[in-house]
Amino acid sequence: MHPLAKLDLAHIWHPFTQMRDWLAREPIVIVKGEGAVLRDVCGREYLDANSSIWTNLHGHSHPKINSAIHRQLKKIAHSSALGLANEPASLLAGRLVQAASDIYDLRFTIYDSKRKVVRHPVIGNHQLAKVFFSDDGSTALEVALKLAYEFTRRTRGRITKPVFLSLAGAYHGDTMGAVSLGHIDLLHKAYAGLLFKSDKVMSPYCYRCPFNRAKPERADAREYRKCNWECVGLVERKFHVQKKEANPHAAFVFEPAMQGAAGMIPQPESWLKKVSDIARSHCALLIADEVMTGFGRAGVSKAESGKRKAEFLFACQRENVQPDFLCVAKGLTGGYLPMAATLTTQKVFDAFLGEYGEFKTFFHGHSYTGNQLGAAASLASLEILQSKKSIHTRQKLEQVLRDELKSLWQLPNVGDIRQVGLIAGIELVRNWQTREPIDLRERAGIRVCEAMARHGVLTRPIGNVIVLMPPYCTTPAQAKRIVNVLTTAITEIFHTKQKNKF
Ligand code: PMP
Repeated sequence: MHPLAKLDLAHIWHPFTQMRDWLAREPIVIVKGEGAVLRDVCGREYLDANSSIWTNLHGHSHPKINSAIHRQLKKIAHSSALGLANEPASLLAGRLVQAASDIYDLRFTIYDSKRKVVRHPVIGNHQLAKVFFSDDGSTALEVALKLAYEFTRRTRGRITKPVFLSLAGAYHGDTMGAVSLGHIDLLHKAYAGLLFKSDKVMSPYCYRCPFNRAKPERADAREYRKCNWECVGLVERKFHVQKKEANPHAAFVFEPAMQGAAGMIPQPESWLKKVSDIARSHCALLIADEVMTGFGRAGVSKAESGKRKAEFLFACQRENVQPDFLCVAKGLTGGYLPMAATLTTQKVFDAFLGEYGEFKTFFHGHSYTGNQLGAAASLASLEILQSKKSIHTRQKLEQVLRDELKSLWQLPNVGDIRQVGLIAGIELVRNWQTREPIDLRERAGIRVCEAMARHGVLTRPIGNVIVLMPPYCTTPAQAKRIVNVLTTAITEIFHTKQKNKF
């Protein structure tokens, strides 16, 4: 065994990993990355099919990001944002505000009690204007959570204990506030005693929706579902019930377009617009968690607002939803360095202004807030993202992936294939005709990914859902290979399973 592998086994405790299984085999030790390819210490090469846990955008060792970091390194690596400003963080804040606010349409819809549209007012200024930097997705959510909590207490006098509403299956990070917003029992239940209670509402999981009357087909369940938007009705009911209890929801927290760790659950078109309009009509703040979906992950389609046209970077923009808080991390730096941002409105910011002695300050911050190396990498990444070349490449890759994934429908253990932009989830089932799930203890997802690794493609499953989220630089041939390897792995594992009566 390689000495680095030995050291790992001796000392490192890996995240979200059953360490007994980990200790039973030699780990892959990565030493190099270039484009979509990772190389291990033994010289073996792998395609990075989940962009190093959804972080990497343009590929590893991108010359533009590398040189932006080198240039910054020659000046300074880090100075504190507590009491000091710095060049790349200021520039980045400006660029983020611009990218996030450019194309939103501020109209929204109010429904009457029978859910008929009654008006389209232009609402107050929800433009995102301020940026609070932190370190990762969890901390971006903590910031939004604390700000929304305190903003509500300060501006909605009757609400003394703000209640948050989030989606079934939600995952917003591993710090305690973020965990409190989450609803995945496997990850969150053990810590119930440490958490505050947040309200939960059904998410639109069309494939397994009890309201979907359609029989399974060999297509994305969103396309053939038969329902009456009962999931939207349930969101509306939640808001009404909480209002009746004289403690209306303070904020609605959601991942737009696709819930990630919930199992890659995509939202049918217009769901987000419908539910965010309901939330707005109940005066709830909107907290958009774009830790996974941000920076072009959710696709490149154009959004239109008035006469302006632009390619969006954020999933909220697909449906013209303007959140009060936009949380980003993972891809912010192009997947290079841990950095996050919580964008919010002038209105929220103003609620924290006052004489020093009033102590209205937002007492929150981290040592590496606004770190210069992270900000320099982020600026370079944004520049690449907004280039015509990147937009074109991403559009092409999205289509290639969509075309390639179709071949998986021929496999009887593939129940659902769901793709949003450059994110795909493939749900493995015992029987596609009945949607019968596979018991998690059978480790089907893990075993398929282990088989993929043996064939040179790396990704991680979420339960029985195989995640494909390639870096944007992945070539059509590499995308094809990823899907071919997945096909081989599923065939291998399920063939062996049948022999073993698995
Ligand atoms: N929100 C979402 C939607 C995520 O997918 C994740 C991480 N997978 C987080 C928050 C937490 O991010 P981090 O791991 O960087 O703390």
